[in-house]
Amino acid sequence: MKRIYFDHSATTPVDREVAELMLEYMTDKFGNPSSVHSFGRETRKAVEEAREKVAALINATPKEIFFTSGGTEGDNLALKGVAFANRKKGNHIITTAIEHHAILHTCEYLEKHGFTVTYLPVDENAMIRMEDLKNAITDQTILISVMFANNEVGTIQPIKEIGQLAKDKGIYFHTDAVQAVGSCPIDVKELNIDLLTMAGHKFYASKGVGALYIRRGVKIEEIQHGGGHERNLRAGTENVPGIVGLGKAAEIANRDMEKKNAYIKGLRDKVIATIMEKIPHVKLNGHPDLRLPGNVNFSFLYIEGESLLLNLDMKGIAASSGSACTSGSLDPSHVLLAMGLVHEVAHGSLRVTLGRGNTEEDINYFLEILPEIVEKLRSMSPLYGSAAEFKPSNPCSSCHHH
Ligand SMILES: *Cc1c(COP(=O)(O)O)cnc(C)c1O
Repeated sequence: MKRIYFDHSATTPVDREVAELMLEYMTDKFGNPSSVHSFGRETRKAVEEAREKVAALINATPKEIFFTSGGTEGDNLALKGVAFANRKKGNHIITTAIEHHAILHTCEYLEKHGFTVTYLPVDENAMIRMEDLKNAITDQTILISVMFANNEVGTIQPIKEIGQLAKDKGIYFHTDAVQAVGSCPIDVKELNIDLLTMAGHKFYASKGVGALYIRRGVKIEEIQHGGGHERNLRAGTENVPGIVGLGKAAEIANRDMEKKNAYIKGLRDKVIATIMEKIPHVKLNGHPDLRLPGNVNFSFLYIEGESLLLNLDMKGIAASSGSACTSGSLDPSHVLLAMGLVHEVAHGSLRVTLGRGNTEEDINYFLEILPEIVEKLRSMSPLYGSAAEFKPSNPCSSCHHH
């Protein structure tokens, strides 16, 4: 059966060119970059060239790029590293209710270690309000961490305004840009970003590699102890194949971004428009315009996102859902709930994230299949018969623990 991948926010395939380069640095060019002999010098040079390419993608300098094992580590290092290094200055951190768990769970950890955290609410489009951010700042605030773009609904935050405010107040600004890097043009200088997290596998490099940008002068301490790698901030022998691949992926992203985005946006807009036209009782989640080029997120009333996923999977289509009601956790997405969606609506959500490998043909096939599946599932739903009177209530009857 034909398989179609619509889950690029979960991970992307590794670019062939990236993979071939990685293979070279696993087989022939395998030296430890810390070794002084020619094998070591060869990989050291490759690591430093990759650092230049990653820096160029976000207009940083190479010395401001620190390689990590991915998004989760970057977020941990940024938050814990800044918090512990600046605790004499203050103990207050501001973030949002819709962050990835790599941020939220790190904040919970910091709360257990004497820090206080404000979780900003969002509006119905998953946007924070600058007013709320301004009001949350105290003389204890040392760090603001707001994600660049949301992984579930694709909403892009007012990063430039946040950066300016943080700069004016003398507070560090970190952004989890894992979903944005490679999809949004980013200039850390223009946007006044102090720290920025990226992950290779979200933009066609491999899993287990990423980078944290740290503006020169930011006070931060290491969270992993050992050798003096990455200028004493991240101990451990460098993941050379991963890093070299990350550099190549950054170069490709830099080169192709505009063309790639225009293409993916075209597909996305067709998917959104067709779903709205063909399927009744749907709600587009996330900001109508300020959203990632490949993100589609809909709630289909009267059905479970999980059933939708399984039915799509049977037809070879791989998407994702904001609710995990039938897959272990009964909680619907914290992002959708923060946006004010009631449980029934949050449960019916489907995320389709497009990538550069998707074709018009994939989209057409999906748009043909989807209305049939939705219709079938709704015809089986006890709620659908009384559609006219449907009044979503909170909490959801299928969340047994509520
Ligand atoms: C995927 C993702 C992460 C985690 O990155 P890993 O490389 O998987 O650890 C963090 N934040 C966001 C927004 C993500 O999408």
